Amino acid sequence: MAAAVQAQVCVVGGGPAGLTLALELARRSVSVVVVEQSSRFDRSFRGESISPDSVWLLERMGVLQGLRDQTLETRRLEISDQGRTVLRADFSQYRQPCPFPLELPQPPLLEALAAQGGTLPEFRLLRRTTATALRTEGTRVTGVRCKGPDGEFEVAAALTVGADGRFSKIREMSGLTYRKQPLERDFVWFKVPRPKVWDGHTYRVRIVGARHGLFIPTVPDLVRVGFNIPKGGLKELRAQGIGALHARMDELAPEISDQVRTAVTAWSHTSMLDIFTTVVPHWSRPGLVLVGDAAHTLTPVLGQGVNHAITDAAVLARLVAPALRERDTAAAVGRATLHFQQERDASVARARALQLRQERAFALSGPLPVLLRRAVYRLVDASGPVKRRMLSGIYYPLQQEHRIRPFAVAPVPATRAGAGAEAA
Ligand SMILES: Cc1cc2nc3c(=O)[nH]c(=O)nc-3n(C[C@H](O)[C@H](O)[C@H](O)COP(=O)(O)OP(=O)(O)OC[C@H]3O[C@@H](n4cnc5c(N)ncnc54)[C@H](O)[C@@H]3O)c2cc1C
Repeated sequence: MAAAVQAQVCVVGGGPAGLTLALELARRSVSVVVVEQSSRFDRSFRGESISPDSVWLLERMGVLQGLRDQTLETRRLEISDQGRTVLRADFSQYRQPCPFPLELPQPPLLEALAAQGGTLPEFRLLRRTTATALRTEGTRVTGVRCKGPDGEFEVAAALTVGADGRFSKIREMSGLTYRKQPLERDFVWFKVPRPKVWDGHTYRVRIVGARHGLFIPTVPDLVRVGFNIPKGGLKELRAQGIGALHARMDELAPEISDQVRTAVTAWSHTSMLDIFTTVVPHWSRPGLVLVGDAAHTLTPVLGQGVNHAITDAAVLARLVAPALRERDTAAAVGRATLHFQQERDASVARARALQLRQERAFALSGPLPVLLRRAVYRLVDASGPVKRRMLSGIYYPLQQEHRIRPFAVAPVPATRAGAGAEAA
């Protein structure tokens, strides 16, 4: 089949990774096609916490302008275990350009990325289009075959990017091996109005035995609530009726019991996250690279999925754009994609390790292990430097590194920024 669409880069998946990458490439004058299966970005309960480093990146990309009224800063973290506060963090004490995580629902973020991309001649977004197969020449991937509203067609590209999320088909089709590690719990999410007794900027983690809940204030005046259930245990919980969810909230956060009883009257008001991590030893092969969840699925602890998706995109665009201008494009792009994984691997591994440690702590039950968990939290809380190092390692590595080696994002077009200067 002749390729109906040609571009230097074909990105499969218009999530945070795919759209940020496409925007960053198009701003560097690289022609890019994004293939996205859904017609709209109206997903809910997906990646709404944006970690501070990604807030910093999005700000410098000029993406957050116009979105501020749809965001909420998380200024503090508070962990309680068996009703006692065991760890507190105040992010305003971290002297960073962007110290706060931001609650920002994905639909407006994705719309903003797509809208900014849409102003650039090199950016093309094909909605309602599903990538169904890889195009190959020998061992090299040369694009994808797609199914869109008008039928099947091919996209030819020097680089194909699998940005198609945690259940990536591109990863399956590429033959890149991966290891999926299911964790012991799944997570149920819902939103309720924020009770008056809670301020709008504190991220609360409540632990009772082996049960825990996350309570994250979000826009507009809501709390995003997530609580753990045993792996695959949703069917059993649902069979007990919605009262089982209400009882869980009575136990974890009685302050929101009334709101939950009024707002969550059926299981259809909730959304489930199957928690697992994926480790992909090699993120690329000739002509193809994986980014975001497709390359490294993470758990919900400290909202790192979107963060690593956006950072991947910014790093890959910076490395691949000059490679696409070299005479031996295939070799240069191959080197750039390897370099990309080298640059990103350690940071992803650090986030995954912290999350897995935290997952194990959440799962502890029985008097002794629970006592130990509380003692460890208290120790970390009492030791300023340890707490600082732990949180800085996950929330601010890019901003800290930037002081030593400036991290460049693509110049924001003059029409939007007014200046058009390189945001180094
Ligand atoms: C319930 C839930 C809550 C979460 N909460 C948080 C949070 O608070 N903070 C956080 O950081 N992360 C959170 N995450 C994780 C976060 O959503 C992901 O890490 C993040 O969205 C990854 O971005 P991505 O661009 O790599 O993939 P995705 O966001 O998954 O985007 C992939 C895109 O690819 C498209 N696609 C898939 N297959 C094809 C195909 N064959 N052809 C064309 N298009 C295709 C999909 O439609 C989708 O738009 C949550 C996830 C879930 C499910």
